Amino acid sequence: MAILVTGGAGYIGSHTVKDLIRQEKEVIVLDNLQNGHRQAVDKDKLIIGDISDRKLVTRIIKEFGITSVIHFAADSIVGESMINPSKYYNNNVIKTINLLDTMIENNVKTIVFSSTAAVYGEPDVMPITEYVRTNPTNVYGRTKLMIENILQDYERAYELRYIALRYFNAAGADESGKIGEGHNPETHLIPLVLFTALGKREKILIFGDDYNTPDGTCIRDYVHVSDLAQAHILALNALEQGYKSSVYNLGNGNGFSVKEVIEAAERVTGVKINKEVVNRRPGDPAVLVACSEKIKKELGWQPLYTSLDKIIETAWKWYLQKNS
Ligand code: UDP
Repeated sequence: MAILVTGGAGYIGSHTVKDLIRQEKEVIVLDNLQNGHRQAVDKDKLIIGDISDRKLVTRIIKEFGITSVIHFAADSIVGESMINPSKYYNNNVIKTINLLDTMIENNVKTIVFSSTAAVYGEPDVMPITEYVRTNPTNVYGRTKLMIENILQDYERAYELRYIALRYFNAAGADESGKIGEGHNPETHLIPLVLFTALGKREKILIFGDDYNTPDGTCIRDYVHVSDLAQAHILALNALEQGYKSSVYNLGNGNGFSVKEVIEAAERVTGVKINKEVVNRRPGDPAVLVACSEKIKKELGWQPLYTSLDKIIETAWKWYLQKNS
């Protein structure tokens, strides 16, 4: 009995793998290392390959006795998805169909799927519950919603059970300081603010201060990567205990503006961070804040990192360690 984690060498994947191992679960990671990092996973747990390689996935399922899959492997840069939709439809949708078909063929019928708040687009209702209408405004969000729809159809036809987790803004790093966020190119706010504090960037660009928010900058719900990892393990356990398929939001339920994030980073690092307000980034909604009551009530999810400073502190520890 083992769990296959696709994309387990990536940011959220590697944190989930670490926690699965801490809980003494048997884990195999399949990652093509296009976005993942070899050093983020123990050598003996990592198989380098593609989720669409049916022969390889079949071999892994048989050899390790895979009973469930946690599926992270995907491309996830919103801007890139608009410029190169083909990459996103191929890598996120078509490859996932291949993975699901190989699972069904081999009688593996439970999957935890990485989804995103981007499936909601720009809703007017805040905080966002799972019942808010999905209306993605970018290709990345559309690929994730497509897979959620495919999962529903596969459940009906093939009795595949799934839990899709819609993450808000993942942030922070494992307390050990040994793994953390490492995108290439990095586009996310907290890493870029901390790169500025480290002197690796001259300044942080604030994308617009004319939004309809108290300080004019965009508000997001930052959720710690280890809390996301915890949610995946709860979802996996629930599926293994026979829970029905479901979709859950994952956020802290507190919104912080871009300016508040920079101030928090200044408190944590003790460094005054250079900043400049520039034009809005196309496609950025003003406010995205989650209601995560459903997963708290149904699966007992309890985020441990509810303070923004604490979340940034763990990220800071990781970057200091990496740059030392
Ligand atoms: N942001 C910013 N400057 C940057 C990167 C991001 O002002 O260099 C803003 C962005 O407009 C958004 C928030 O920070 O309002 C979070 O952006 P991020 O890319 O981290 O996550 P997203 O919300 O796009 O998933």
